Amino acid sequence: MQDRTHEVVWDEKKIEAIADVIKNSNRILVGLGGGMPMAAGLEVLPLDKKVPQEKYWAHWYPYIKAQRLNKTVPEVYTQLAQLLEGKDYFIIDSNPDGMIQKSGVELGRIYKAQGDMARMQCSKNCKDQTWIGKSHFEQMEQDSSYEPRCPHCGAPMIMNVYVGKGFCEEPYQEKNSAYFRFINSSIKEPLVILELGVGYTMPELIRFPFEQIVMNHPNATLVRINTMHPLCVEENKHKAICAEVDIKEALPRILEKLR
Ligand SMILES: [Zn+2]
Repeated sequence: MQDRTHEVVWDEKKIEAIADVIKNSNRILVGLGGGMPMAAGLEVLPLDKKVPQEKYWAHWYPYIKAQRLNKTVPEVYTQLAQLLEGKDYFIIDSNPDGMIQKSGVELGRIYKAQGDMARMQCSKNCKDQTWIGKSHFEQMEQDSSYEPRCPHCGAPMIMNVYVGKGFCEEPYQEKNSAYFRFINSSIKEPLVILELGVGYTMPELIRFPFEQIVMNHPNATLVRINTMHPLCVEENKHKAICAEVDIKEALPRILEKLR
């Protein structure tokens, strides 16, 4: 029979193949890109947008409120949590929206590589320190002109979210180490690498390292679910299931097969 697993066609065979590798592996490494919040119906955050400092919080606070402080968890996130139940997993998330923290997965297994909208940092990152934004958000709620300032140097505060240099990565260091420990300790067992909606905005964070791990791992399978960039590198084709399908269509169908 022709091996169809590397083709991008989304069909019953591919769902079965994905469910099979998940069933047969205790370990799952998950990578979440911008396609995940998109599949969840969340507004895409224009993080690279230049906003004048005096309008910074008036611009960003509504997004923080609608996504990070909102207690509603989109279904794709709870479905992912169900899929990981009972597995030894680790998640690297490039989104600062906090949805994965609310999905039901263990917080100790999430590496928020590009920050968290619920935290703040000094715009000059003067002391490599971050703060929980809660009390500041409450003040913004009362007074839309409120501008939080760094207690050390008085510079304006910004979201603790990666947009280039000056990002304070200190709160995520511990999980960064845990992420590498998970990868290193996975080399002897079957490993599923589940990549959801990771494109080419910052491929050096998740996509390229995932391809590299698959290439070097004797027993890893890459499951790439991506409507825009589903293909994998030639060398990994025999170890990959690439599906050009919306995450919100894929997850419930895979879950159904796992039940
Ligand atoms: Zn400062």
